[in-house]
Amino acid sequence: MAYKNFTVETDSDGIALVTWDMPDRSMNVFTEEVMEELNAIVDTVTADAAVKGTVITSGKETYSGGADLTMLKRMLGQFEKDAKKDRQKAVQTLFDNVGYMNKLFRKIETSGKPWVSAINGTCMGGAFEMSLACHGRVAADSDKVKMALPEVKVGIFPGAGGTQRVPRLTDMQGALEMLTSGKNLTPQKAKQMGLIHEIAAPDQLVAAAKAMIKGGLKAVAPWDEKGFKAPGGAIYSAAGANLWPPAIAILRRETYGNYPAASAILKCVYEGLLVPFDTALRIEQRYFAEILQTKEAAMMIRSLFVSLQELNKGARRPAGVPETTFAKVGVLGAGFMGAGIAYVTAKAGIPVVLLDRDIEAANKGKAHSDNLISEAVKKGRAKPEEKDKLLSLITPTADYGDLDGCDFIIEAVFEDSEVKKGVTEKAEAALPKTATFASNTSTIPITSLAKNSKRPDQFIGVHFFSPVDKMMLVEIILGKKTGKEAVAKAIDYVRAIKKTPIVVNDTRGFYVNRCVLRYMAEAFQMLIEGVPAPMIETAAKMAGMPVGPLALTDETAIDLAQKIMKQTIRDLGEKAVDQDQFALINTLVDKHGRFGRKNGKGFYDYPPKPAKKKLWPGLKDLYPQKDADTIDIEELKQRFLTVIALEAARVMEEGIVTDPREADVGSILAFGFAPFTGGALSYIDGIGAAEFVKRAKALQRKYGAQYKAPKLLVEMAEKGETFYVRFDPYAKSDVKAAA
Ligand code: NAD
Repeated sequence: MAYKNFTVETDSDGIALVTWDMPDRSMNVFTEEVMEELNAIVDTVTADAAVKGTVITSGKETYSGGADLTMLKRMLGQFEKDAKKDRQKAVQTLFDNVGYMNKLFRKIETSGKPWVSAINGTCMGGAFEMSLACHGRVAADSDKVKMALPEVKVGIFPGAGGTQRVPRLTDMQGALEMLTSGKNLTPQKAKQMGLIHEIAAPDQLVAAAKAMIKGGLKAVAPWDEKGFKAPGGAIYSAAGANLWPPAIAILRRETYGNYPAASAILKCVYEGLLVPFDTALRIEQRYFAEILQTKEAAMMIRSLFVSLQELNKGARRPAGVPETTFAKVGVLGAGFMGAGIAYVTAKAGIPVVLLDRDIEAANKGKAHSDNLISEAVKKGRAKPEEKDKLLSLITPTADYGDLDGCDFIIEAVFEDSEVKKGVTEKAEAALPKTATFASNTSTIPITSLAKNSKRPDQFIGVHFFSPVDKMMLVEIILGKKTGKEAVAKAIDYVRAIKKTPIVVNDTRGFYVNRCVLRYMAEAFQMLIEGVPAPMIETAAKMAGMPVGPLALTDETAIDLAQKIMKQTIRDLGEKAVDQDQFALINTLVDKHGRFGRKNGKGFYDYPPKPAKKKLWPGLKDLYPQKDADTIDIEELKQRFLTVIALEAARVMEEGIVTDPREADVGSILAFGFAPFTGGALSYIDGIGAAEFVKRAKALQRKYGAQYKAPKLLVEMAEKGETFYVRFDPYAKSDVKAAA
């Protein structure tokens, strides 16, 4: 029988080799069609007396990315529609649908003939769960092989047997860590955990898998054998008693109960290990169907999978401009940011010219790359030859002539218009006519910097975040005259360095910093109100923010906050800055010399390592302190998310960001806006505009104008609209929709 997504060849030993290779996709994924075909294959090989066993592998470089989450998104869309008519029936259908994969994998496991999964490359989610249902697992000894059950990162969990098979193969603690973190495993780590059986040379992979079958591999899973005991012991054992109470506490500490899927994993493992395997699978299926109905799952799948993937593929790239392959990129200014930009560019295999005022400064910038890659080599994350290659790609210089041949320039010199003007003119004189010039400015409007250029249509903003090697977002800023070729090229560049681009119109603070400043300002206001600093930081974390606002201000520097305030007063007048907050920052910087992490003294004290940072006790003396018991922590949490979301809504109203996917994904990648909400706009959509506006009004009455809802939101509340309906990203013709 012929299949569209698989080939099946049986060799003279009676071993069927099933090769998964979807013709229309770059990566194999589980779709309805794939599952149906696999089901037919299982039936065929089981019924065929000539087949002794089956090896399943992939015909692509990767094994599989797991389930196609757009399929899940569609399933959830259908569920919502059906639930409006008959909720109980819709839930039953959802439960049955999500059980299909589980049943299919169980069918492989109980087919009576041995199956071996030959894992040749990245093997994620459902594909790893399928492998776990095979009787044998061999992985290729290659850096390209990564295995993980990463579902928790998008608000769901491994619902095709993963929560049951993993803790029956490895110790409970290892299983919980793997399932709740979604972290990648190398073949060595997976073997050490007992999750795979063998590691083979890549060109011997299928042979090794076949040899397992020829060697008499039993077609029975360990848990289907009489007397099976989980390797980590039973739930009601000394080991179980030691593990579970802290496991629950640790999860709470890490998630503050914001991630229902993570809690469901613990419940599945705990309850599942108490019962026979088939009952355990059913428990998992029930929790999975429940989790799929949560707002968190819907929002996280949309933003952190579907939208993120679309933006990474260049959803906002103007149509009709040929793609650029970068021959050489120039970075002007080898300081803090420029050095990081040079590193990520070279890491992507692109030659970089790193220019500074003198060769010493340029060399110093290159040394940053040396430090980062040397550290990676030390930790086993990179090979020595990768270090050599990366460093060979960076040419430090003080000579503008070396910029000849660059297709793309990123300027990261001092934040000073005059200095930027000088380097722009000198660089343009040396550059080919086709080169695009991008500035990494954080505050100066691109339109005004473009005036320094002879070709403003090729002038654009490319705004990185620090630390450049870690932060995955880049804002692309459009000046008034920026042409579509420059936009396309900037997007191509950001994609080439494997970061996520969002396209933003020119304004003070662009998108991200406008929101971040609101977050910090709200914390300053709370301090002034007398809210104890530890409560401010904890409330923000409980709301889902990864870094408290005071810690974040320390990272970016308090004197920078002071500089921004002073500049804003110069540009827009005194009223543009809250004078009480200005006084707080001035006191910290001018009176107490507290600049932030950089001088070891900020809102926190930074003692020498390994001691941990601690909030500065002096904060208590700056303002009369409220009694913590009189403060509503829920309100503090709400204030942080609301004040940021309102700014994101204003940015949409002003047309600075035009696509809600970019506002959402940007807010999560740049400053970790409570990921379980799906991002700053999804937070509003999830609450509903009407309810959100009501909350904002109540907060405005108590705390001030920062909570004033923009007209846009008031109108959306009246019409019952969401951002994704009003600014439908798929309605535009130049935007590629998800398959
Ligand atoms: P930095 O002071 O660390 O580095 C600036 C570098 O530019 C220095 O090495 C300096 O020698 C060099 N330079 C100055 N004048 C020059 C000239 N005429 N010719 C060549 N080189 C020259 O500053 P930074 O923090 O890396 O910031 C650089 C730019 O990036 C600024 O525009 C800043 O607003 C922006 N930015 C900074 C951050 C951040 O977190 N620091 C984040 C995003 C954007």
